[in-house]
Amino acid sequence: MSRQDERALALLTAAHAHLSRAAAAELPIGERDRRLLTLYQDLFGPRLTALATCPECSESLELEFDAEVFGAALEHESGAEPAEAQLSFSHDGYNILFRLPNSRDVLALGHGRPDDENRLRLLERVVLRASCGEQEVPAADLPATLIRALEERLSLVDPHADIRLDLDCSACRAQWQAPFDVVSFLWSEVDAWALRLLRDVHRLARAYGWREADILALSSPRRQCYLELLDE
Ligand SMILES: [Zn+2]
Repeated sequence: MSRQDERALALLTAAHAHLSRAAAAELPIGERDRRLLTLYQDLFGPRLTALATCPECSESLELEFDAEVFGAALEHESGAEPAEAQLSFSHDGYNILFRLPNSRDVLALGHGRPDDENRLRLLERVVLRASCGEQEVPAADLPATLIRALEERLSLVDPHADIRLDLDCSACRAQWQAPFDVVSFLWSEVDAWALRLLRDVHRLARAYGWREADILALSSPRRQCYLELLDE
């Protein structure tokens, strides 16, 4: 989990020269993922291709969909929710003041800890104040039903933090929902793209004896031209 979030920050700060690492770390997770999706579209176009395995018949499926399926939230302007904004929530006599989780919160979670422990740690970070009547209540003492309600609320105000895709299998017609992880998706695309680029550099360097820096300095269409000439 933590490695993923490091990657998300690396991608965002590489893509936005004006965005400091600290500022990127404070973006709410949904806003972070929204920006990563926009980055994906800038780099690779509006179509996403993903692989999935049918849970019923184990068929491998290649899925294509528009980045637009992530809906209206993609359209609303960046920074709609200030990272430090305080939100309030009332449930069963409890009043909660909380903020949206950001990368810093997720990075602070331990590796390989039990999920319940991580949930509690995250809760302790994002709950700014909890009270029941006049009494202040530590996050660790909040009842389970309240925590569930708060988690639902979090996914409503920061919808991209938990993107789910409706999938169906062309072989057996099974239907299911799968989580879509923007970070690992974008990272694997960037990896694949970097690998293709390295292969191209390798072929051109071997054929023409050019230096890597000179090959990378060529525009992509021009590089493509030379590669096609090699195939003739
Ligand atoms: Zn199937």
